Amino acid sequence: MNKINLEGRKAVVTGGARGIGYAICQRLTESGARCIIWDRDEEAASEAVSKLPGAVAIAVDVTREESVNEAKQATAAKVGGIDILVNNAGIAGCSKKLWECSPDEWQEVLQIDLFGVYLCCRALVPGMLANGYGRIVNIASIAGKEGNPNASHYSAAKAGVIGLTKSLAKECAEDGVIVNCITPAVIETDILKQISQEHVDYMRSKIPMGRFGLVEEAAALTAWLCSEDCSFTTGGVFDLSGGRATY
Ligand code: NDP
Repeated sequence: MNKINLEGRKAVVTGGARGIGYAICQRLTESGARCIIWDRDEEAASEAVSKLPGAVAIAVDVTREESVNEAKQATAAKVGGIDILVNNAGIAGCSKKLWECSPDEWQEVLQIDLFGVYLCCRALVPGMLANGYGRIVNIASIAGKEGNPNASHYSAAKAGVIGLTKSLAKECAEDGVIVNCITPAVIETDILKQISQEHVDYMRSKIPMGRFGLVEEAAALTAWLCSEDCSFTTGGVFDLSGGRATY
């Protein structure tokens, strides 16, 4: 059986210290890639790379331009050029109605979940274009397609990630750089600690398969999108929602 082959590829995974990002790092490493974890949680990132052969951890806050640029330079010094970028770092933010969110609460989610994706793409896409090869996978959410109540900040940010993916894909379409996103429904990770049980129950109740998604399922889809096998699909939005999304 042919396996996903990422031999010799170098992959930056933001928020790769835990949860979905860590599972993606595990899968990419198993497929032959070298992972560079960009995460703000240095301790968790160091622990994660200790379990991933060849992996490197670099501290970054994806919302700060200087921090992203420093991470880019540190990455270049340690491993050279980057072939793959997985924009996974994100937060859920508070579970509140739009008018109950303070401007700071609303902005924080937009800054991390959308602006951070822009900054990391801005930092790494030019190198990919110069090499004539790149794979970018943005971790959006079903919330960005459907809009979840009590998550207007998160839904708006993830809808923004879907739009950014489609625009960037067209900008790079003739240059070997392929850009897609995935839209998972709820997956049990630490991120769920940020939101109310009522909100988690609501999201689970919307899934026809009647269960949470698994981090391994997100990693499997992402690994294919990171590979050379994904060659004629760009600007795509890949469902991972146990049947919740029917479009
Ligand atoms: P986790 O909270 O388990 O992991 C997210 C990681 O990103 C953490 O290590 C976190 O660090 C890091 N991070 C957060 N903000 C920043 C920042 N500013 N700079 C650098 N790193 C940062 O979340 P998940 O694994 O569940 O989520 C991963 C992605 O998947 C997110 O984009 C999320 O929106 C998306 N997603 C998740 C779903 C789910 O149900 N779990 C469903 C759909 C999409 P720290 O711990 O310090 O915050």
